Amino acid sequence: MEHAAALADPGTADHSGRAVPFFSQASSFAELWPAIATNVTTVLHRGKFSHGPLVAELERALAERLGAAHVVGVNSGTDALVLLLRAAGLEPGDEVVVPAFSFVASASSVVLAGGRPAFADIDPLTYGLDPGAAAAAVTPATRMVMPVHLFCQLADLAGIAEVAQRHALTVVEDSAEAIGMRWDGVHAGLHGAGGVLSFFPTKTLGALGDAGAVITNDDRVAETAAALRHHGRFGRTLDHFPGISNETALPGVNSKMDDLQAAVLLAKLGRLDADIARRAELAAAYTERLRGCPGVRRLPTAVEREVDTDPVFYVYLVEVEHRDALVEYLAAHGVGTETYYPVPLHLQPCFADLGHRRGEFPHAEAACARAVALPLYPDLLESQVDRVCALVRAFYGGAAS
Ligand SMILES: *Cc1c(COP(=O)(O)O)cnc(C)c1O
Repeated sequence: MEHAAALADPGTADHSGRAVPFFSQASSFAELWPAIATNVTTVLHRGKFSHGPLVAELERALAERLGAAHVVGVNSGTDALVLLLRAAGLEPGDEVVVPAFSFVASASSVVLAGGRPAFADIDPLTYGLDPGAAAAAVTPATRMVMPVHLFCQLADLAGIAEVAQRHALTVVEDSAEAIGMRWDGVHAGLHGAGGVLSFFPTKTLGALGDAGAVITNDDRVAETAAALRHHGRFGRTLDHFPGISNETALPGVNSKMDDLQAAVLLAKLGRLDADIARRAELAAAYTERLRGCPGVRRLPTAVEREVDTDPVFYVYLVEVEHRDALVEYLAAHGVGTETYYPVPLHLQPCFADLGHRRGEFPHAEAACARAVALPLYPDLLESQVDRVCALVRAFYGGAAS
């Protein structure tokens, strides 16, 4: 769905030569190619293609960059969530409080790990889980709470920590989009039992295919996730499971990371700070050009916190009137957009058995109806931002309501 469209060929979007694809990394990739080629050659020479030395090197480099005790490389951000939930001790039937507005994997991971999502509404300013709503969703079966950090800022981690403490819940963070974001100096994903990273190509640090990681400061969570990604193999006597010394101690999955993806990610990691700075510049350019535009109801709003929080623009998301008509208009003019997220999770058919109704989580539902993501990636030119904003203004100028 959004992932496939995000990779539309930038060359075919229109005939004017001025198309603005939703995502492209063609020019930065050309710059990075020598570093990537060197790393790929290393993989070929070492002959370890999965779960090999470059994956280990990437895990070390990321752990240092994030300030995490452990980074466990896996096949995708989604797998990372499932393994994190299992490693953090989710048991069959346990409930996890999840925001009703997120990528579907935030909640489907809970089901795949044997649990049950308990949906709660978001704070409409940050799109993050609202602590008061999270507290109201707690039942005797609730064991965990999953704040999701979306687009450009963190969910209210202090508020969530308070709820977690009051109800004895484990915090697991869906920090798939949040690389580079810190709360009071601590990187996203490291405020509870653990978090995840996604290296899907469009993410702030993207591979050339699927990859992800579990990040944690908890030795036991890291060791269990590392075993689960590799068929449940610990491969030695287990400190944390006394008496268990079998090689395969848990039913695991095959979610090893490819060394070829690690080769790409290691090359791109050196540019991460520059990429984040470029994203911030482009976001500022959008905000300047769209401020006061009729039809645009909300631009990204930085929420004041008592502690330092570093925003990182993974996505430039606006809320607009006549969203679907705007999306069509932009597409007709060669501008790619994405609808993050089109359906609130409590109304997704795959969660129909939970018995939710429209109207239950009004902030999540409003965001799904009005939000649209504009193109934002380091290769984007300021002239392209100009073009997108001019088209948005033309749309609302012409379609006065
Ligand atoms: C991208 C993303 C995921 C899933 O990551 P994949 O690597 O695509 O599996 C999960 N949660 C959120 C919020 C995401 O943005």
